[in-house]
Amino acid sequence: MSMEQRVQSWIRPEIQALSAYHVPDASELVKLDAMENPYTWPQDLRREWLKRLSHVDVNRYPDPRAKDLAGELRLAMQVPGEMAVLLGNGSDEIIQMLALAVSGQGRSILSVEPGFVMYSMIATWCGMDYHGVPLRGEDFSLDMPALRLAIGKHQPALIFLACPNNPTGNLFADEEIVEVLEMAPGLVVVDEAYAPFTDHSFMSRLGRFDNLLVMRTVSKLGLAGLRLGMLAGPQAWLDEIDKVRMPYNINVLTQETARFALEHHQVLDEQTRAIRRDRQKMFESLQGMQGITAYPSQANFILARTAPGRAQALFEHLLNNGVLVKKLHGSHPLLEDCLRFTVGRPEENRQLLELLEGFGHG
Ligand code: PMP
Repeated sequence: MSMEQRVQSWIRPEIQALSAYHVPDASELVKLDAMENPYTWPQDLRREWLKRLSHVDVNRYPDPRAKDLAGELRLAMQVPGEMAVLLGNGSDEIIQMLALAVSGQGRSILSVEPGFVMYSMIATWCGMDYHGVPLRGEDFSLDMPALRLAIGKHQPALIFLACPNNPTGNLFADEEIVEVLEMAPGLVVVDEAYAPFTDHSFMSRLGRFDNLLVMRTVSKLGLAGLRLGMLAGPQAWLDEIDKVRMPYNINVLTQETARFALEHHQVLDEQTRAIRRDRQKMFESLQGMQGITAYPSQANFILARTAPGRAQALFEHLLNNGVLVKKLHGSHPLLEDCLRFTVGRPEENRQLLELLEGFGHG
């Protein structure tokens, strides 16, 4: 048997059918594709941080529960006192823990489409079925009749609702999320990855529903390189999910750096305010542009639609001129002709907008 045959016979067919999570090479490009905070730290803060790291020992394993960091995050993210928190190596790892903890014969994950790709990908990794319920085409709001039907039929173990949603940028109506919580047979995770860019949150509702968990990440607020996510919710759920957590999943450098960053949160807060302000500017400029439809966003990116059939050409035009954005065209029927622009630094946004102005939108 050749190695290829051996690979084919042992790797599960559904894994062979997947494409690995693709991250394009962005070197030398203005990077507006991945919802990162574009700002680095001021030099003095950087020096202080390196001094702080010089006291960190790497010969021992990290604090297995990252107690100090968890306590500080709980305060920073306003987790209600009686709720538990669990940390992950990015919220991606938390999605995986949740799926692992509920997976099994006939178990499924349900979310909305277009949505965050990792929900379905991780469902597949864990041998679970995935059901993606389409959003309403006009405004990407929840399609409640379709959701009621799908939840009733599939009885999902786990429902993910990202709010604001990626890649559409909108919030879902509170009362509709509440209805999902009330009809769900299992867990509902409100994924608040983009919480820094909106005043809206379900965090304060924790405890009012015994199946609600709220997930956060530090990635979008300026610490994507650390890989740190947080799940908040009732102790009874989190105690079980904690059993499938990798030992020492939050490394010492992440623990120390995240604590340092939280102590200096004013720097990140200021950057977040700038991103929110520049999102508004970018949105207004896009709205005034011929051949582009921009969708209102509560996140640090804006979804935009080109004239029919022009998304690929626009993507290439931007790329050839040094600007990398996310091409969504072709990924879902509701995202025909769509691109997603992460809000960058003012000069990067200006470069993007000038290139958009200079493009023959057709
Ligand atoms: N949830 C949503 C809705 C996201 O868009 C992302 C990142 N693209 C994540 C979770 C993952 O975040 P993290 O970097 O914490 O793994």
